[in-house]
Amino acid sequence: MGELIINHELCNMCERCVSACPFQALEISSDLLQVTDECVLCGACVEECPEGALKITSRVEGREGWDTESWNGVMVFVEQIFHTDQKNTIHPVVFELIGKGAELADVRGVELTAVVMGDKLKGAIETLKGYPLDRICCLRDKSLRNFRSDSWSAALAELIEERKPEIFLCGATSLGRALFPRIAAHLHAGLTADCTGLRIDPEEGLLEQTRPAFGGNIMAEIVCPEHRPQMATVRPNVLESRESSEKREVETIDFSPSQEALSSSLEVLDEYFEVGQDEDLSEADVVIAGGMGVGSEKGFDLIREVAESVDAAVGASRAAVDAGWIEYHHQVGQTGRTVQPRLYIACGISGAVQHLVGMQSADKVIAINTDPGAPIFESSDLGLVGDLHRILPRLKERLR
Ligand code: FAD
Repeated sequence: MGELIINHELCNMCERCVSACPFQALEISSDLLQVTDECVLCGACVEECPEGALKITSRVEGREGWDTESWNGVMVFVEQIFHTDQKNTIHPVVFELIGKGAELADVRGVELTAVVMGDKLKGAIETLKGYPLDRICCLRDKSLRNFRSDSWSAALAELIEERKPEIFLCGATSLGRALFPRIAAHLHAGLTADCTGLRIDPEEGLLEQTRPAFGGNIMAEIVCPEHRPQMATVRPNVLESRESSEKREVETIDFSPSQEALSSSLEVLDEYFEVGQDEDLSEADVVIAGGMGVGSEKGFDLIREVAESVDAAVGASRAAVDAGWIEYHHQVGQTGRTVQPRLYIACGISGAVQHLVGMQSADKVIAINTDPGAPIFESSDLGLVGDLHRILPRLKERLR
């Protein structure tokens, strides 16, 4: 997995690395700088060392000499949602990835390719023609009808080895979270999961990937300088979605994975289509969310009543979900859903960073809280200091 190497000839024992290490993994012992088993190779010490005395050896085994220059272009994985009527639709996150992918490809002056796979691709290809793509790459096979993590990842790894994109993106959906780590393992590439932002360095072509770290207390910027492709899964609803425009001809190419890649150890016995409420929350124009300030399970009836009166979806903080007041699929935040409504009303929610990452893309935020110093007010367009049990009934009346 790699190693932290200390060049003792260059090290002047200034101990800046010791202070910089978040894991207390460096110490001075026997008059020498030593690294302990606590080291996770985060690289904080390497950046801090003024003498260049610290170095991390390659963190990925099995592949030597990556010629990063020969990897070129941006690729986006097109996830489809399967419906009972056999008419598949494209997951909304794909249009967000295409928007960002087009921006990254423009900065780099490279092409943008969408990768679509399954047994029937016609509908998806037609839809994709309304987007700014240079190419649509199709992996079409009967065996790809259902998602199987082993064969899908092996097939996509073969495609990546052949086409060599410098960037490969996917939504951080349940499917993306199962698929992308396996592709990265096939390729011996890195992967930044669950990103909330992406930027590109135009000269170096390094993808700067932002994601919450250390329980959401910091936003980490991750780069992958040595391996290709630079792979990331991105949370739905954090990037701006690209609108469809007039359809045009886009080059469509077929890629046939080997029979070995297509063979799977998973057998699909039956198919069930779940009609969940999760999509309602992610797609809602207005979300009214409750936290511990709601006070009880019954307290959420008031949130629901107000939500119903304006056709809004109901959201919740994790603390309210953990208290058993409302089901998990209402949870907004780092370990819940990411929402991007036009209006988010946070009722009795303090505004912990793990909650904010799930709703900070809302156009307008209104917060109701008894504590004028609650952090949620810093992220709100309008703040109402007061008891939600008094304010919400009046709001409901006014809305009626
Ligand atoms: P509290 O922090 O207890 O806040 C309650 C607020 O209600 C207070 O500000 C109070 O002033 C106000 N209040 C009380 N009574 C009233 C009243 N009558 N009227 C109006 N206001 C009132 N949290 C999430 O929400 N989503 C996540 O996905 C998530 N993921 C996490 C992941 C990790 C790894 C960790 C460590 C934490 C995560 N959390 C998440 C938890 C998060 O840190 C907070 O603990 C949680 O968001 C707090 O919920 P809350 O605001 O409802 O409760």
